[in-house]
Amino acid sequence: MMIYSTNKHSPNVSFREAVLKGQAPDKGLYMFDKIPLLSQDEIFEFKSLNLKEIAFKILYQFLEEDFQEQILKNIINKALDFPIPTNLITDNNYICYLDKGPTCSFKDVGARMLASFMEHFLIEEDIKIIILTATSGDTGGAVAQAFHDKNNVEVVVLYPKNEISTLQRKQMTTLGDNITAIAINGKFDDCQRFAKSAFADSDLSQLNLTSANSINIGRLLPQAIYYFKSYSDIIEHKNEKVIFSVPSGNFGNLTGGLIAKRMGLPVKRFISAVNENDEFPKYLAKGYYKKVKPSRVCISNAMNVGHPSNLARLIDLYNGHIDEEGNLRINPSIDKIRNEIISYSITDEITKETIIDFNNNFDLLIDPHGAVGWAALLRYQKEFPSEKAIKSINFETADPAKFPEQIIKLTHKHPKIPDSLEIIQQKKETMTSLEIGNYHDFKTYLQKNF
Ligand SMILES: *Cc1c(COP(=O)(O)O)cnc(C)c1O
Repeated sequence: MMIYSTNKHSPNVSFREAVLKGQAPDKGLYMFDKIPLLSQDEIFEFKSLNLKEIAFKILYQFLEEDFQEQILKNIINKALDFPIPTNLITDNNYICYLDKGPTCSFKDVGARMLASFMEHFLIEEDIKIIILTATSGDTGGAVAQAFHDKNNVEVVVLYPKNEISTLQRKQMTTLGDNITAIAINGKFDDCQRFAKSAFADSDLSQLNLTSANSINIGRLLPQAIYYFKSYSDIIEHKNEKVIFSVPSGNFGNLTGGLIAKRMGLPVKRFISAVNENDEFPKYLAKGYYKKVKPSRVCISNAMNVGHPSNLARLIDLYNGHIDEEGNLRINPSIDKIRNEIISYSITDEITKETIIDFNNNFDLLIDPHGAVGWAALLRYQKEFPSEKAIKSINFETADPAKFPEQIIKLTHKHPKIPDSLEIIQQKKETMTSLEIGNYHDFKTYLQKNF
């Protein structure tokens, strides 16, 4: 299967190349040129399969030429070593829990699969890389946990010294081995600047610096898996249609769903639930696109995105083109997008009310991101009451225990800390994280140590 760049100015590549490169040289995002179609019989048969078996069926459709069967199975078994359950909440509304991985965030799915793909390719090619990533909080932990103990990979994470929580820091500093966390005396923007400078610095080219950011196609594709899994868990008959509500920031989660639909998954509608960063619902309403700059700060902080990176893929799926600056170069079939996706912006005020109501009505906690998705579902069902007859799947993308202050304030309940977070909290920070204040010192550190 060939992979092209959404900017169409880079050569086509194999999956291996796309994973190792991350972003295309023309700054476009990599995308599969064909999306294989499954029959409704095949999809209905997923009901008798478990998560790993479904994952294999999906991925093998795309990656048959890239992996031997057993190798792909081993990669899946190692990466997806946590459950993705879907529970009935009320009436026809379900929640699919994507927060059962090691960092209790939906990002574990993509990051762990990407780490396993990369390790496999690096060993085969006998090359070593350094993953350099800047984090404002959560991504660093998910990447560090996913790549910990992987062969042929070193990880260097830069985080702003005074801007992340103790738990977020510990997710990076308690691992040791191939994980180095560096506290930067500065802000997230400084961390990003150091990383960018290092990628562009020819003195460091022999270090094979790579980014493992969320636009890597090795992270995107696995995000189609849980759409099939949660669907199989709840439907009763073949070709039954469902609604998905997706808390969205950079739109990687939603793009995974769009791929699943193109593969044949019967989806009545996607609800793209965003916080106060409302560039996408505005685009669907008005027909022209304008990013939100600077992005708005909301309690669903992993979704504070004023220009979603995966919009390039979404627009491309509907035959349009948006460049990396956010300029629409070719208009997509917007009516087709409106037909498949409805998007709502949820304010922080409504998000908080939803967290309270959810606890009062169901005696259950929901995190701020999941609450944005749930609130958007309720708005949709209010607008289209007859759709209440259709089953809905809502994603919970983080464990409420990651947001203790908000949750306690709103519900007066103390969220139970999941084992994986508890273990990290207890652990000693084996590595005293280094403190660096300027690019020169950072560069010298890299040259001395790697
Ligand atoms: C990253 C993230 C999201 C947003 O997902 P996208 O793929 O960027 O749209 C939602 N919730 C949580 C908890 C996240 O970490």
